[in-house]
Amino acid sequence: MNYRHIYHAGNFADVLKHAVLARLIEYLKLKDKPFRVIDTHAGIGLYDLSAEEAQKTGEWLGGIGRLMGADLPRNVAPLLAPYLDAVKALNATTNVMLYPGSPKLSRMLLRKEDRLSLMELHPEDYETLHANFEGDFQTRVTHLDGWLALNAHLPPKEKRGLILVDPPFEEPNEYKRLVDNFAKAWRKFPGGVYCLWYPLKNTAPIREFHEALFELEIPKMLGAELTVKGHREEGLTGSGLIVVNPPYTLKGELDILLPFLKERLAQDRFGLSRCWWVRGE
Ligand code: SAM
Repeated sequence: MNYRHIYHAGNFADVLKHAVLARLIEYLKLKDKPFRVIDTHAGIGLYDLSAEEAQKTGEWLGGIGRLMGADLPRNVAPLLAPYLDAVKALNATTNVMLYPGSPKLSRMLLRKEDRLSLMELHPEDYETLHANFEGDFQTRVTHLDGWLALNAHLPPKEKRGLILVDPPFEEPNEYKRLVDNFAKAWRKFPGGVYCLWYPLKNTAPIREFHEALFELEIPKMLGAELTVKGHREEGLTGSGLIVVNPPYTLKGELDILLPFLKERLAQDRFGLSRCWWVRGE
C-alpha cells in the first residue's frame, strides 16, 4: 500500500467528489429519518496542506485553490455552498491550509441523529483517522479492508445510507473490482445511494468499465466526469463518479455544476465534462 492521499488532497478530483458528496448528504437530510454514511476508503479525514507531502505536489492549487475566494455564478453558488462552507469553516482566510477529506466533510454536514462509518486499511493513516475522530460517538472508525466492510456493513440498521467507495486504484484490476464489489453490495442493499469514484487516465479501460456497469442491469446509475487536460498527458487527466440511486435533482444540478468546474479547473484546452445515465430507470 503506497498510496497516501495527503499528496492529492484538495486536487481537481477531490473537488468533484466532495462537491457531489456534499450534495448527496444535503439531499438525504431533507427527510427526518436518520441515515448512515459509509466511507470504505476513508484516508486520514482532514489534511494539513502545509505538510511537506502536500507542498511537494501542490495539487490543491489546481483544485480547491481555484475555487476559494472566487466569484461564483448565481446558479452555481448554492450548489457548491455545502462543500465550500465546510472548507471555509476550517480556514480563517481564503488561503486554504486545512482541507476536509470525505470523512471530515461528511461529519461536518451530518445532523445529530445521523451516523458515519469509516474504514481505512493503511496502518498509519488509520491511526491518524482514528485520532481525528476520537470521542466522537456519531462516528465509528475501523481498521479494515474497505471491500470486506462493504459487504459486512450492509444494509445499515438505519435502512437509509450513502456509501462512498473511493479506492486508490493502485492495482491494475481495480475497475473490475469496483464493479464486482458494488454489484454484491447493491444486492444486499438495493435502496442505498452509492457514489463510486474512478480515475480517468490515458491507459484506463473506461469503456469496458461503463459496459460492465451497464450489464449489471441495475437501474438508476448516473455518470459524471470531469477531464481537466488532454487525454495524451501522463497521469490523472480527470475523474469520474457513478452515483447509483441519485436524488432526482442531481442530474439537473450536475448539468450546471460540471461545465462550471470544467471552465474553472481545466489545465489546457482539452477540458471536458459530461453527465449521463449509464442506466436509467
Ligand atoms: N475518501 C478519501 C477522501 O475523499 O478524502 C480519500 C481516500 S484515498 C483516495 C484511498 C484510501 O484508501 C487511502 O487512504 C488508502 O490507504 C486506503 N485503502 C487502500 N486500500 C484499502 C482497502 N482495501 N480498504 C480500506 N482502505 C484502503
